[in-house]
Amino acid sequence: MMREVPDFPEPGIQFKDLTPLLADAGGLSAVADALAATADGADLIAGIDARGFLLGAAVAIRLGTGVLAVRKGGKLPPPVHTETYQLEYGTATLEIPADGLDLTGRTIWIIDDVLATGGTVAAANKLLISGGATVLGAAVVLELTALGGREVVAPLPVTSLHTV
Ligand code: AMP
Repeated sequence: MMREVPDFPEPGIQFKDLTPLLADAGGLSAVADALAATADGADLIAGIDARGFLLGAAVAIRLGTGVLAVRKGGKLPPPVHTETYQLEYGTATLEIPADGLDLTGRTIWIIDDVLATGGTVAAANKLLISGGATVLGAAVVLELTALGGREVVAPLPVTSLHTV
């Protein structure tokens, strides 16, 4: 239920498209259950733009928590916490609101679809910590182990449902 797209969005990148999995009722339910089972102790789920929003909301409903959208740069009104970081392809910025939601003392699991170089999860972790939260771990559907993202994110623990 995963589509592999060679040379997207850049030459040399093997893009893993989880659209068929997420569009399948049983697939979405199984993935939400498995991710929720790993997010032990979370009182808030942080889903990373954009597929992490879908998964994060599903996990949060399973756990009975709320969900926080970690947005790509430029989408949120000020004030924001911002992190710019290296992607497998290019650079990117993530943001969370610096106002309107107090993260002090919150215990968070980060949810995303794919762990590649780890820069995205590491940036989300920094953002949430700068907001005052305790980040317990990150859970992803798919980990591209050859890219070493787990080491980049360490010591934050990462749970992946599948590895390639
Ligand atoms: P990274 O920061 O390198 O771990 O990249 C993770 C983020 O980029 C995730 O939000 C993924 O959705 C996306 N991503 C990076 N590489 C791939 C890939 N090869 N296939 C699918 N998504 C990817």
